Amino acid sequence: MGSLLAATASFLDARSQGIPWRLRIDDIDTPRTVPGAANDIIRTLADHELHWDGPVAWQSRHAADYEAALNTLTAAGRTFYCRCSRRQLRGITVYPGTCRQQRNPAPDTAIRLEVADADPGFVDRIQGRQQNRLNETVGDFIVKRRDGLIAYQLATAVDDGNVEIAQVVRGADLLDNTPRQLYLMQLLNLEAPSYAHIPTLVNAAGQKLSKQYHAAPVDNTNARENLYLALCLLGQDPPAESRFSSCEELLGWGIGNWFIDAIPRVKKLPAP
Ligand SMILES: [Zn+2]
Repeated sequence: MGSLLAATASFLDARSQGIPWRLRIDDIDTPRTVPGAANDIIRTLADHELHWDGPVAWQSRHAADYEAALNTLTAAGRTFYCRCSRRQLRGITVYPGTCRQQRNPAPDTAIRLEVADADPGFVDRIQGRQQNRLNETVGDFIVKRRDGLIAYQLATAVDDGNVEIAQVVRGADLLDNTPRQLYLMQLLNLEAPSYAHIPTLVNAAGQKLSKQYHAAPVDNTNARENLYLALCLLGQDPPAESRFSSCEELLGWGIGNWFIDAIPRVKKLPAP
């Protein structure tokens, strides 16, 4: 339901402005990719009549673009090779710069980005002004993992920095990632999109409703009811549910009455 909420908000926001709505599957973390998960997402969107424009973009098929971006950062002298073990870094939230002098490629290392004293702040359309001094909150962060995979932050910065992407609407659980992605876009001379981070649905323990915490999947046979609930959670105050006989009618109302300022300005919402 949390993912459907984000998809619905993103869809309505794009459609109400008459701009295309794109679908990208972030499957760069291949070892963690659950087989069939992407197909489940695609089926859920289709069953809720949330139709996207153009082809589906798959991060796992754009590795060459991400490697090119990494080469740009390396050529600019911004990356280094980190040998620190998981054990050495246990309990550390801000990378202490241990390996900053390691500028020559070595086997079995991660590649980190040297973070300057900068604050890639931004104004979120829902959450308001965000500030984050990266050198105080995360420090030099990983752009290529020890297992050879491009890190999520870099892949997403390259994709969202594409000139065709004007706006990103996603869950507030990703809000902490945004400054790292904006920082990468700055270094790569990419055009940053605007952001709207909608509240994340959480269970009674405050955990995100997701497969990770064994939340029940959305029941696609109740698509209309799910969309109605999503509109309510997004603060859109739709008229009585009985007025709508289909997903199309609900989405049509949602597009015509979309009011982003009505979305609760919180990071977490308790699931109903
Ligand atoms: Zn290190």
